[in-house]
Amino acid sequence: MLDRTEKRFGIRPDWLAADTAYGNAENLGWLVEQRSIISFIPVIDKSERTDGIWSRSDFEWDEANDQYICPEGHALRQYRRNYSDPNRGQDTGGRKKYRALKATCQTCPSKEICCPKAEARCVTREPHEEAREFARKCRKTKAYKVSRDKRKKVEMLFAHLKRILGLTRLRLRGPNGAKDEFLLAAIAQNLRKLAKLRPQCANPEATA
Ligand code: SF4
Repeated sequence: MLDRTEKRFGIRPDWLAADTAYGNAENLGWLVEQRSIISFIPVIDKSERTDGIWSRSDFEWDEANDQYICPEGHALRQYRRNYSDPNRGQDTGGRKKYRALKATCQTCPSKEICCPKAEARCVTREPHEEAREFARKCRKTKAYKVSRDKRKKVEMLFAHLKRILGLTRLRLRGPNGAKDEFLLAAIAQNLRKLAKLRPQCANPEATA
């Protein structure tokens, strides 16, 4: 869609708003890292815990040293020695695991709220985590609220098409049939909008 819009109309968005369905790591990585587009998209994040145990967000990311720092100030690393294979330690989904030292965790006063059942704490880092972090920061801005309101306006139109105009299923066949049905539905929506813009008559009987 982005390529087609650029090719056809010569425009390219600086930012893009979408709902959570588009907030996966691959999509955010592609938008932010490859297309340099600001993403106002909620991040799909399953790392937040609700059982009182510290979540990944309680650990500080140390980019320069490729490690997390736990709330007690200790390092969680992928490796404790140098390997020649850069992919070593990643699981099949490109996730990286960062582990604390067993000896440190065993004597830590915060072990009960950090890793009560494990010998040492392990934190996973998703692929494209930088892009995900960027999207999280974008979500805290005023511009995100503006984009969300705009997105909801568009979504309302689609909901109206589906629920009120009955476009859950198309009746005409083929791409041309779909095009005709959507064109007629869009005309109906625009007429409805125009009717709302018309100034209200003070005395309806005068126009009867
Ligand atoms: S249990 Fe380990 S990782 Fe967790 S806070 Fe203590 S030292 Fe850090």
